[in-house]
Amino acid sequence: MIITPIPAFDDNYIWAIQPTANDDAVIVDPGDEKPVLAWLAAQGIGLASILITHHHWDHTDGLLPLLEHYAVPVYGPDNPKIKGIEHTLKHGDRFTPAGLECEFEVLETPGHTLDHLSFYSPGLLFCGDTLFSAGCGRMFEGTAPQFFSSLRKLAELPPATRVYCTHEYTTANLRFARAAEPDNKAIQSAESEVHQWREKQQPSLPSTIERELAINPFLRAKDAAEFAKLRQWKDNF
Ligand SMILES: [Zn+2]
Repeated sequence: MIITPIPAFDDNYIWAIQPTANDDAVIVDPGDEKPVLAWLAAQGIGLASILITHHHWDHTDGLLPLLEHYAVPVYGPDNPKIKGIEHTLKHGDRFTPAGLECEFEVLETPGHTLDHLSFYSPGLLFCGDTLFSAGCGRMFEGTAPQFFSSLRKLAELPPATRVYCTHEYTTANLRFARAAEPDNKAIQSAESEVHQWREKQQPSLPSTIERELAINPFLRAKDAAEFAKLRQWKDNF
């Protein structure tokens, strides 16, 4: 399987999943159709299906324009705010996106938004704006206990699971992580590693659950109260 980040806006990644380089791609969270159409054309392939994690415009605005070019299945939350989702999903559902052989399990991960879903297949996690490398999404709609329990679900996935987040926020997140845990050596070495990658314009993603358990203060929080304190601090950091 080949998984490629298509950069969009300032710091979004729209992920493209393909069984092999010649196959049509499954696209995750197309906030903008233009970079997706350009990438598909450059690869000489088409679109197989679309996955949506939550309703925010930078994850969904490209959806209807892409459907004008390709009439493909769309999988995502049961939220009437998002137009174009044919297959609505809920926690525990299992589905195999058109174009792929592998089955995904649906995890409800509310907190950033209430409709937020994450998609897990052994070895892979597409978690939208719930979990970032060394950080997590802002708490726009959910409560701290909701967000904390969503992060616990992700923390319990196998450590080697690769984590495909949708924003390149790692550098700023690690700055906060160092302030939150000044003695954490894993955070310090991640900072220099990510600095080198970003100097070479390389994405800092995917991460892994194992790495996040070592460097991500939000995933390391012991309870919802500690999570809430960190989230509030980061919002003003
Ligand atoms: Zn969002």
